[in-house]
Amino acid sequence: MEGIVLKTIDYKEKSKLVYLYTPQGILSVKALDATKTKLGFVTTLNQVEFEMTSGKLPTVTEYSLKKSFYSIYENLTKVGVLAPILDVIFHLEEGVNHSRIYVFLIQTLNELLTTEDSYQVLSIFLVKMLAVFGIKPELKKCVRCSKTNLVDFSMLEGGALCDSCSIYHEKNYQLLYDFQQLYFAKNYQALTLKLSYQALLDEIYQYYAIHANFKLKDYYL
Ligand SMILES: [Zn+2]
Repeated sequence: MEGIVLKTIDYKEKSKLVYLYTPQGILSVKALDATKTKLGFVTTLNQVEFEMTSGKLPTVTEYSLKKSFYSIYENLTKVGVLAPILDVIFHLEEGVNHSRIYVFLIQTLNELLTTEDSYQVLSIFLVKMLAVFGIKPELKKCVRCSKTNLVDFSMLEGGALCDSCSIYHEKNYQLLYDFQQLYFAKNYQALTLKLSYQALLDEIYQYYAIHANFKLKDYYL
């Protein structure tokens, strides 16, 4: 079994309860005598391979460290960005494709380790994850009439509007453009966007609030 440590809480004497994200979803396992022998297993953001007992609350028996992402914690901007990313993972519903999301999360953390633009990593992650919540915005055709001469973006209707359905609105047009760039970005390629990341993240947060009824954690400390 493989997973990435999301958080740990104290569990009885010297032991910890460890929450991991795995290709099968979130899993909680006990790590006995965690302070001595399971240090690498109870460190947040460690990617580990492990064996565990069976049962309702399994105990980890063996583990090996695959990769540590801990140095993300050395940069305050990155620590801030991590909060909504992990928040999204904790909000995943049952039945989603965890194995794909797991790969995407690892890719996102790898990018966050080295990037100089943490807000771009966060924006791409959040916009791409909208599809997982079943609230992907319609970005290729008008949400009302399916025409493709797009000039506007409707936050409430969740997608683009064409020139027959809306008058041109500069800020919303920029928003539509940026949503398209983020959603269709290949991996974490560098993007040239029209709005600032701060303005864009405000909109993305609003989109989650309206369509998923989900108030994401702040990305600034
Ligand atoms: Zn239309």
